Amino acid sequence: MINQLFTPMINKLFLTFLLVTFSSGSLANTETVSGIGKYDDNNVFSKILRGKLPAKIVFEDEFVLAFEDIHPIKPVHVLIIPKGKYRSLVDFSSKASEQEIIALVRAMGKVAKLMGLTEKGFSLMTNSGHNGGQMVAHLHFHLLGGEPVNWEEALREKNTTDN
Ligand code: AMP
Repeated sequence: MINQLFTPMINKLFLTFLLVTFSSGSLANTETVSGIGKYDDNNVFSKILRGKLPAKIVFEDEFVLAFEDIHPIKPVHVLIIPKGKYRSLVDFSSKASEQEIIALVRAMGKVAKLMGLTEKGFSLMTNSGHNGGQMVAHLHFHLLGGEPVNWEEALREKNTTDN
C-alpha cells in the first residue's frame, strides 16, 4: 500500500529533477569540445554569425565579429571570432588565409582600443580542445579587462558561473 502510494510520487520527483537539470543547461553547458575535426554549424557562435541568435555586437568587419560574452567574468569580457568556419586555433593557424589572419589580429587591437583597454591593459586568450576547456567549437578569443586579470582566479569564477 505504502509502496503503491510513494513509488509514483518518487518517480514524478525524479522526472522533475531531470527536466529542471537538463532544461537549465547546467550539465550540458560545462561540456568541453574537441578543437580539431569537422566544423559543425550547430555551435552557438555559428548561430550568432548567421543571425539565428542575438548578441551584443561591439565590432564587425568583413572577416571578424566581436560581441559581449553572455557570462562576463570581468567588467569587460568580449569574444572576438573569425567569420570563417574554424573550430580552434589549430584549425585557423593552418587553414585560414593571410587576409583572415591579419584581419583577426588587427581586430584584436581595434576592439581593445574601442573598449578603452589600451591604457590600463587587458588579457587576450583562447581555449583549445578538452584540456584547454573549450566549450564552443568555433574559434574565439576572450578579451578581458576593466580590472586586473588573474587567470587562475578568473577560470575558477568562470567554472562556477557557467552553469
Ligand atoms: P570557452 O570555454 O573558451 O569555449 O568559452 C565559451 C564562452 O562563450 C563562455 O565564456 C560563455 O560564457 C560564452 N558564451 C556561450 N554562449 C554565448 C552566447 N550565446 N553569447 C555570448 N557568449 C556566449
